[in-house]
Amino acid sequence: MTHEAKEKFNKLREEGYRITSQREQLLEFFYNLPDGEHLSAEEMHKKLTEKGIKISLATLYRSLKFLVINGFIRELDFGEDHKHYELKGPDNKQHQHLICNSCGLTVEFEDKNLYDYAIKIAKRNNSFEIRDYQFKIFGLCEKCRGLT
Ligand SMILES: [Zn+2]
Ligand SMILES: [Zn+2]
Repeated sequence: MTHEAKEKFNKLREEGYRITSQREQLLEFFYNLPDGEHLSAEEMHKKLTEKGIKISLATLYRSLKFLVINGFIRELDFGEDHKHYELKGPDNKQHQHLICNSCGLTVEFEDKNLYDYAIKIAKRNNSFEIRDYQFKIFGLCEKCRGLT
């Protein structure tokens, strides 16, 4: 876990949030995932159980929600019947996704202009404070178009 994440956890604790060791373990788990992994709650539950971390699926969902709301992780909707989760980077360096509708391949990309644009839109609309911004492109990858 990064120093920033630890400090953020401590700050929440001072504010009276009940942060269980499970929630910290879960965040640590995200830090240890390889880049570009977008796990669903079910896949995560399997991996956590394998690691000997006991957590019910219901608790896992609540803990994920907590980490999303407080800006530690992102919840991604790739147009399937379940959500995916990944660690959230700094707002100005947040990556985005291209998703293949056929095979589910996800490709990550970064574009700084998207952040500048998100700030403008958030300010203009009810002065929203940004927790995450997601730009998704759905389509067909090269392989699924039969080009390879
Ligand atoms: Zn990603
Ligand atoms: Zn594809």
